[in-house]
Amino acid sequence: MPLDTPPQPALVGFKGSIAEPCVLHPEVVATYPYADSLPPRLWKKIDSWEDAEARRAERRDQDEEPPTYHHDLSIPQGFRVGGFPSWRTTDPRAVNCEVCAAPMNLLLTLDSYEWSGADSSWMPIEEGNIAERQRDRCPTQLAFGRDGLLNIFACQADPGHPHRWSLQ
Ligand SMILES: [Zn+2]
Repeated sequence: MPLDTPPQPALVGFKGSIAEPCVLHPEVVATYPYADSLPPRLWKKIDSWEDAEARRAERRDQDEEPPTYHHDLSIPQGFRVGGFPSWRTTDPRAVNCEVCAAPMNLLLTLDSYEWSGADSSWMPIEEGNIAERQRDRCPTQLAFGRDGLLNIFACQADPGHPHRWSLQ
């Protein structure tokens, strides 16, 4: 039987190390590779499309920014299982297993925020007005690095091999 008042940890390094009790509402989303990981020819096409969208929005005198691959279409913020890793603070790199040298896949991403200003297109519609609900950008109250994220990788060849991680 669960306790009415769960025990509190006696010593924690900082506030962002203690998770706020919350409910998980998983949903399936398609993700695409981090922009700097794309082949140059493909990135050039996407860049041209983004420029055309920006010009179109300017002609229409739209207040709303047109979508961009990086912020709106490739990798959402928030806690995720699988998909493609974000490389916000470093250049993309291959992650290989330290035991067998096999390539590793992204297993899990733990993020300090579920969305941000530039990435607000990933905000769940149910969350309503973003300005009024800033606290919900981080419902777990967990922080990784300086408002960053933690990528955890698993070996493709043997899931029993030690995980590796990247703080971004
Ligand atoms: Zn391995």
